[in-house]
Amino acid sequence: MPVYSEQQVLDNDLMEEWAKQIALNHFYAFYVRRDIEDVLRYVKEDVHWMGHKEYLVAHNKSEYENLLKKEIKEVPLDCVLKVIQSEAATINPGCYNINGELELRIPYQTSVLYRELRFSMIILNEDNNYSIASLHTSMTGDGSLSYGAANEDRKPIQHIATDMKNQDRYDVLTGLYTLDYFKKEVVQLLEQSKKADKYAIICTDISQFEAINNLYGLRRADQVLIELALLLTTCGKMMKLCCRSVADHFLALAVYEDEKTLKNLLHKLCKEFDNKVCKEYPDADPTLGIGIYLVEDKEIDIEKMVERANIARKSLRPHEGSDLVFYDDRIYARMEKIKKIERVMQDALEEKEFKTYLQPKYNLDTGEIVGAEALTRWIRRDGTMVYPDEFIPIFEKNGFIVQLDFYMLCSVCEMLQKRLKAGKKCVPISINQSRVLLGENDYVSRIAAVLAKYNTPPKYIELELTERIFKDNLSDIARMMAKLKELGIHWSIDDFGTGYSSLNLLKELPVDIIKIDKSFLDETETSDVSKIIIQKTVEMTRELDKRVVCEGVETESQADYLRDIHCDMAQGYLYARPMPMEEFEEILDKEKVK
Ligand code: C2E
Ligand code: CA
Ligand code: CA
Repeated sequence: MPVYSEQQVLDNDLMEEWAKQIALNHFYAFYVRRDIEDVLRYVKEDVHWMGHKEYLVAHNKSEYENLLKKEIKEVPLDCVLKVIQSEAATINPGCYNINGELELRIPYQTSVLYRELRFSMIILNEDNNYSIASLHTSMTGDGSLSYGAANEDRKPIQHIATDMKNQDRYDVLTGLYTLDYFKKEVVQLLEQSKKADKYAIICTDISQFEAINNLYGLRRADQVLIELALLLTTCGKMMKLCCRSVADHFLALAVYEDEKTLKNLLHKLCKEFDNKVCKEYPDADPTLGIGIYLVEDKEIDIEKMVERANIARKSLRPHEGSDLVFYDDRIYARMEKIKKIERVMQDALEEKEFKTYLQPKYNLDTGEIVGAEALTRWIRRDGTMVYPDEFIPIFEKNGFIVQLDFYMLCSVCEMLQKRLKAGKKCVPISINQSRVLLGENDYVSRIAAVLAKYNTPPKYIELELTERIFKDNLSDIARMMAKLKELGIHWSIDDFGTGYSSLNLLKELPVDIIKIDKSFLDETETSDVSKIIIQKTVEMTRELDKRVVCEGVETESQADYLRDIHCDMAQGYLYARPMPMEEFEEILDKEKVK
C-alpha cells in the first residue's frame, strides 16, 4: 500500500475531478457536437480496449476512429446529453476509473425520446497528460424509447456544466462554452482548418429580452436562453462551436460553403426561434437577430473577429424586418462614430455644449406667441452644430438621454425663473421626454424637485411624449402622468396619428394637448383624406376639452387651412425656426411692447 502525504491526497481529488471532466467532454464532443477529432484528442494512441455496444470492439486509436464513424451515423442528430451521475475512483496514482450514466434526449416530433447510456472508462495521467486508455459503453433499453414531456423538459446540456464544476469552460445555465474557452477553441480550429474552408462568426441578439425578464420572470427568461442554446447546437452541421458570451448574447462559429446556404441556415434559425419562443412569450414579442462576420483572414485576432460580429449585431434593427446583418466597414464606421459620441457626451454636457433652442408656437387668429417647444442642439467646441437626429437615438440606447432631458428641463425652468423675477412675459414651454425617462423609478419626484428648485409655476411646463412610445402597459404610464398632472403640469402627445392606437391614447391617458404630426399637413394639398383627418381631429379635441397644435407649418396655404378649421396653435418654419433661447426671449420681449 503506498502511503500518501496530505498534499498528494488533495492532488488526487483534484485529478479525479479532471478525469471526470475528460470523460464528460468525450461524450459531449461525440453526442452533442459530433466532432470525432475532438473525441479522439483524449484517446491514448495504444488503446487497451474500446467497446461500444456489446459487439463493437477496438484495440487502437484508428480502429476506434472507424468505430466512431460508424456509430455517429446512428446517433440521432438533435440529441442532447444529460449526465445522470458519474463517479471517479483512483486505481493507482495517475490512473482513474470512471463509471457513469448518461441520458441522451432526442427531440422527436413534439416529444422527447430518452436513451440511457452506461459507461466505464480508465483514464491515465502521465505527467499531466491525460488520456483515455479504455472505454466501454452500453446503451440500455435496447432502443426501446420512453416518451417524455415536450419543450419544458428539454433542458439541454446544462447538467454537464453543473456536474463538471468546470465553470470556466462551460456556461452553467446553457452548458455551452464560456466566451474565453470558445475563443480558444476557435483559434485552434481555424489554425487547423484547411485553407479553402470558410468560416463565419455568428452573434445572436434577442430583442425584447428585458421585456421577457420583466413580464415573465427570470426563470422563464432563463428557459428562453436554454431554448436558444438548444437551437444553436442542433440547427445543423455547419455550426461548429457555440458559447454564451454574456447575458442573452450567444456566439457561434459556423463553417459554410457559400453565403446563400449560410443565410438560409440562419434565417431558419431565426424562424424557429420565432416559432418556438415568440409564441410562448407573446406579450414580450421577442425576435432573434443575428450579426455575422465572414472570416476573410483567419490570421486576424480572435478579439477582432468577435468584435466585428458584435458590431454587426448591434446594428440590427429589430422589428424592421431584417433578422441578419453582415459586418462591413460602413457599419464599423458608424459604430466608431457612436463610440466617439459616447466618449465625449458627458464632458459635452458639463461644458454646456448642449444648447436649448426654442421654436415658438403661435395662436393662428391673433398671431401671438402662445408657447414654445424646447429642442436640443449640440454645438461642438469648434462651432459645428449637431442635430438631435444624430445623437438622440444613441442617447436613448445608452441611457444618457435621462441626463440630457433633465438638463433641458432645468435650462427651461431657469429661464422662466429669471423672466418671472424680472416681470417679463412667460409662455408655456414644452419639453420632449424620452421613453427611457418613464422607466426611471424616481421620475415624478425628480421633476417635482426641479420645479421646486427653480420655483417654476407648473402651468408653464408642458411635457411631450411621442405617440410611438406607447406600446404596452398604458395603465402604468397613465398613473405616472396623473401624478404630474396633479402638480399642474400639462401633457401633450407628440406626432399624433403616427402610432397604432391614437384614439385609445386619448381615452386612456390624461392628455391636455395634441400635436398633429407634420405628415398629415404635408399631404393636405394632395390628399382630401389628410384634410378630413386634421379637421376632425381638431373638432374632436375641442369637444374633449383639449387643445391642438399643428406642427411643421411651412406655407401660407397650410396656415389658412388651419385657421379655417379653427386649429388652436401652429408651429413651423413659416413662422420661425428653432432658435437660441436668447433670440426667443428677444422676440417675446418685443411682443410685449407691441
Ligand atoms: P419632434 O419632437 O417631432 O420635433 C419637431 C421637429 O420638427 C424638430 O426637429 C423641429 O426643428 C422640426 N420642425 C419644426 N418645424 C418644422 C417645419 O416647418 N418643417 C420641418 N421640416 N421641420 C420642422 P429637430 O429639432 O431636429 O428634432 C428632431 C427630434 O429630436 C424631435 O422631434 C424630438 O423627437 C427629438 N428631440 C429634440 N430635442 C430633444 C430633447 O431635448 N429630448 C428628447 N428626448 N428628444 C428631443
Ligand atoms: Ca416634440
Ligand atoms: Ca413632433
